[in-house]
Amino acid sequence: FSMASFSRRLWFFVCLILLPLFALAAFNIYSQYQQAANDLTATGLSIVRAAAQQQQTAVAATEPFLSALAKLPEVRTMDAAGCSALFAQLLKSNPLYVNLGAVDVNGRLFCSGIPSADVVNVNGRVWFRRAMDTGGFAAGEFEIGAVTRKRTINFGYPFSGDDGRMLGVVYASLDIERFSAFAANIKLPPDSTLTILDRQGNVLARYPEPGTWVGRNVKGEPVFRALFGGPLVEGVYEARGLDNVERLYAFTPLDPRAASSPLVAVGFSKQILYQDVSRTAALNLAGLLLITAVVMLIAFYGGRELVMRRVAALQEVDRLKDEFVSLASHQLRTPLTAVRWLNELVASGTAGPLTEMQKQLTEESARSISQLIGLVNELLDIGRLDQGRLQVSAGSADAAELVAETVGEIAPLAVAKFLKIETATSGTPVRVHADPRLVKQIILNLLSNAVKYSPEHGAITVRTSFAPRLVRISVEDRGIGIPAAEQPRIFGRFFRASNVRATQAEGTGLGLALARAFAEAMGGRVGFSSKENTGSTFWLELPAEAS
Ligand code: ADP
Repeated sequence: FSMASFSRRLWFFVCLILLPLFALAAFNIYSQYQQAANDLTATGLSIVRAAAQQQQTAVAATEPFLSALAKLPEVRTMDAAGCSALFAQLLKSNPLYVNLGAVDVNGRLFCSGIPSADVVNVNGRVWFRRAMDTGGFAAGEFEIGAVTRKRTINFGYPFSGDDGRMLGVVYASLDIERFSAFAANIKLPPDSTLTILDRQGNVLARYPEPGTWVGRNVKGEPVFRALFGGPLVEGVYEARGLDNVERLYAFTPLDPRAASSPLVAVGFSKQILYQDVSRTAALNLAGLLLITAVVMLIAFYGGRELVMRRVAALQEVDRLKDEFVSLASHQLRTPLTAVRWLNELVASGTAGPLTEMQKQLTEESARSISQLIGLVNELLDIGRLDQGRLQVSAGSADAAELVAETVGEIAPLAVAKFLKIETATSGTPVRVHADPRLVKQIILNLLSNAVKYSPEHGAITVRTSFAPRLVRISVEDRGIGIPAAEQPRIFGRFFRASNVRATQAEGTGLGLALARAFAEAMGGRVGFSSKENTGSTFWLELPAEAS
């Protein structure tokens, strides 16, 4: 079990749970954007419709108005002074128009609500030509007013004298700048525009900054292409405006019945449009992140707490097991020692002479007893290790001497297997700085393994080499070796390689684990190299005593 991998997995699962939440939030924000855009589109369309409606109403009102003017005596008699005075009066009460006037059949202006110093002729104007040709109400195109010099759309209506002969045309000029006032009145959000464009790409009106834009031709601009690209209908599009601001435009023809009608478009800055949504989105996201952090913290600490509790429970079980092993070993040792003495007593003949058979049997039981005592001792050592009660007395020893003693102790076993044990030393002898009892136990273990796992008639070499700061003892055998795949686990407790379990029933798998623990407790190391069916070399390195 590893805490690190546990937290990794935990984070992963928390993320897995939170991911859909984030997706949901993203979707929510997206639909809010969509909603805002839809709302604004609807607003935009209703504004342009209102603008177009206003224009149509103005045009519709103009026909009866002009028809009434055409019947005025001041017009019919072509009384220039009277007519001009009357028209000036009428302009005041009809703010829809920037000028009212009358021209004769040649297009010469003889009456104008706004006085004109110049001689004005409107012969070429569309509304004039049409009114003359059709003999009825006629609308012109956007033009610069002949008298007012303003952007206007003019309407003409023919008038005649008492004899019914056509004498001229009365006209009214509708001010296109009215749309600016209209836009200002409805209080468009910041960075919004209201634009009227004709089919030739001329800006007829623009709010705000009419001075900068009115009269310009924008045929090449994306806005124009977007507007007039398709059939002339009502619609919405997104484009970069004339002033380089990204906008959402709603547009409609100013006069839906006229194929050549200019368009009126209202544009809302996208930045402004998304500002509110961005704020809510940011709040949403911040909230979600906060939740994420809290959930993660809870998951992490809660999870850890849970695991810790389990770990604590397992640790308790482990402690009880250690305690039991240690107690059981203690309790076993005393009677075992007694059994050994008793067995020795019998074997020595003190209790009476032994037959050859009895001698053999007591020898065998002596071997089993010492094995049992060995096992109990190992278990006791393991117990001491686990409970931190391993006693390491700081001392010093002659390594070569310890090796010689151990070889002596193991000799009977080696002889039984016809094994030759050779010893060799190299370097200038130095004493090891270690607990002699533990060092001997390690050597004994390495050596007894070498004997155990060597075939009969083999050879074992124990080398002691001295370096100024280090003493190295190696035990080399030409035995069964350790399978490569199992080598990494060889120092593990109770681990026995697969090739020895079949052939060697005796063994606990505790010896090497203890050897390593002992060596490390004294500041040393153990290690080995081995090849299956060829042999093994186990070594022990210990610090040399400071000279
Ligand atoms: P035991 O010898 O009681 O099984 P050890 O802890 O001393 O336990 O050794 C663990 C295992 O390491 C052995 O069971 C054996 O598989 C392997 N081993 C140790 N020493 C040798 C050796 N000299 N040659 C081959 N295998 C060895």
